[in-house]
Amino acid sequence: MKILTCIVCPVGCKIKIDENGNILGARCDRGLSFVKRELLSPERILTTTIRVDRGIVKVVPVKSTKSIPKERLREIVKKVSTISVKAPIRRGDILYSDEEVSLVATRSVEEVKDV
Ligand code: SF4
Repeated sequence: MKILTCIVCPVGCKIKIDENGNILGARCDRGLSFVKRELLSPERILTTTIRVDRGIVKVVPVKSTKSIPKERLREIVKKVSTISVKAPIRRGDILYSDEEVSLVATRSVEEVKDV
């Protein structure tokens, strides 16, 4: 038997998949869809940070514009850890993208003013 915690809503149902493939414990159809996706090709929204040059803060939080395969998360975080972006940054700016993934800034970062 396998037990998954549904992450679709805050209820967090514990959903059991028995030896015969029966799915038990989901309170709604969204939970059933979650389990099927999770068993076949699990995906997550990626949230991380990117270094900022000349910003009033050193890093900017970013998130993926769509769910991406779980097996790519580590690779993308590693790639993103090697880059930096120049301030100013506006919330919603695409700061990283490849053929499958785009990461957008989730806050704005102003540029440091020279005094
Ligand atoms: S099964 Fe339905 S109610 Fe339960 S956590 Fe998932 S989405 Fe929420």
